[in-house]
Amino acid sequence: MVEPDPRRSIPRTDHLLALPEVEAARDRLGEAVIRAVIADAQSRARSGELPVAEVTPTVIAAVNDHGASSLTPVLNATGIIVHTNLGRAPLSPAAQQAIADAAGYVDVELDLESGKRSKRGVGAKQALLRACPAAEDALIVNNGAAALLLAVTALRGSGSALRGSDSSEQGNGTAAARPVTPDEIIVSRGELVEIGAGFRLPDLMVTTGMRLREVGTTNRTHLADYAAALTPATASLLKVHTSNFRLTGFTAEATLPQLRTLADDHDLPLIADLGSGLLTADPALPDEPDIDTALRAGADVVIVSGDKLLGGPQAGILLGSTAAIERIATHPLARAVRTDKLTLAALEATIAGRGNPVHDALHIDLDRLRERTETLAETVGGSVVAHDGRVGGGGAPGVPLPGWALEMPEALAAPLRAGDPAVVARVHQGVCLIDLRCVPEAADDAVAAAIRTASDCLGEGA
Ligand SMILES: *Cc1c(COP(=O)(O)O)cnc(C)c1O
Repeated sequence: MVEPDPRRSIPRTDHLLALPEVEAARDRLGEAVIRAVIADAQSRARSGELPVAEVTPTVIAAVNDHGASSLTPVLNATGIIVHTNLGRAPLSPAAQQAIADAAGYVDVELDLESGKRSKRGVGAKQALLRACPAAEDALIVNNGAAALLLAVTALRGSGSALRGSDSSEQGNGTAAARPVTPDEIIVSRGELVEIGAGFRLPDLMVTTGMRLREVGTTNRTHLADYAAALTPATASLLKVHTSNFRLTGFTAEATLPQLRTLADDHDLPLIADLGSGLLTADPALPDEPDIDTALRAGADVVIVSGDKLLGGPQAGILLGSTAAIERIATHPLARAVRTDKLTLAALEATIAGRGNPVHDALHIDLDRLRERTETLAETVGGSVVAHDGRVGGGGAPGVPLPGWALEMPEALAAPLRAGDPAVVARVHQGVCLIDLRCVPEAADDAVAAAIRTASDCLGEGA
């Protein structure tokens, strides 16, 4: 007699849908995800990959483990602190709590005492101003690119209005002296940055209908180059931090104080896009510009991202003079790049709180990092090697952050990524490097367990 094909007894969809665990997960995951999980288990059983008896437990485990979003939390073992592909800055516990607290109804634009409407984002703004005394005012928008777009658009040709020598509000500060609409942004050829994934700051700025007036050469730009490019159409002077590459050798650039003089002489706004977002100078990154210094050096507005070295949520932060920020905040485009309550909450908590994971990873105790790496090697094998971490994602380009990593076979990287928790290591020159710099110490055991599981996977595959 022929054995009945066990695949004919694969649990049916309606049976699996009715399981109490599946029923309970329905509100969280939704019908489509639940059905996809079931179909996947059934199909793996049909192909023989999954024993029929495992279908029900597999479905139950899958719905229990399935996050409500498809984003999978990752342990970042690359040694790259601000990793754009991994969501840039990991938030501090305080910032995470602030997001949870702000998730429901919240007084983001209401004064609870008077019952009247209040200004959005006041708390985050005040935290920024406390941290950057050189700034008179601040505005928070969706991201750094939006902040740049908004600043060049709103400040075009507003020089004298920013310094109070013109009483006309909005509009063209020196309309009488300027027969043409100022629409040229003067920027150095050495600072035309592509920020990633094919996005280029120059392309972004011309989408506003403005024109870029490139000055200098790739390696050298002098104040005289800016001066020679001035015309009645000049809208602003822009200085961009070359945040993801380094220009070395025979180089020259005009400094912010030099550009300030030129801007003053010609009634032009001076905008500084710093990208990375140090609030104040950090001795660990001596070449990285900081907001405080840039403002004191004379920028009308400084732009930084919230989720780079600042260690906060995705945001674009504009800091500067009262007049400049007022002009920017009231431009119609500002509403289109407005930031949400969750970001405001997380940013305020990040700035007000002490320390955050980005700061901790940057200033990690190297002896402790080595000890942790050695402990990992004792548990799972592999060898401890010197390994440089990086700031990554638009900060301190080319600056090595000396440290340690566990060196393992390259083949381990893929099963580590596919594991639970997912561990993303660095694959470099034929090996897999596991750098604990950006891994919370409390997760070291989880990394060890993940490596064991991944090694077992490889063993089975071999
Ligand atoms: C990162 C960066 C930007 C873009 O900021 P986002 O927050 O990613 O939009 C703009 N300018 C510079 C110099 C940068 O480094």
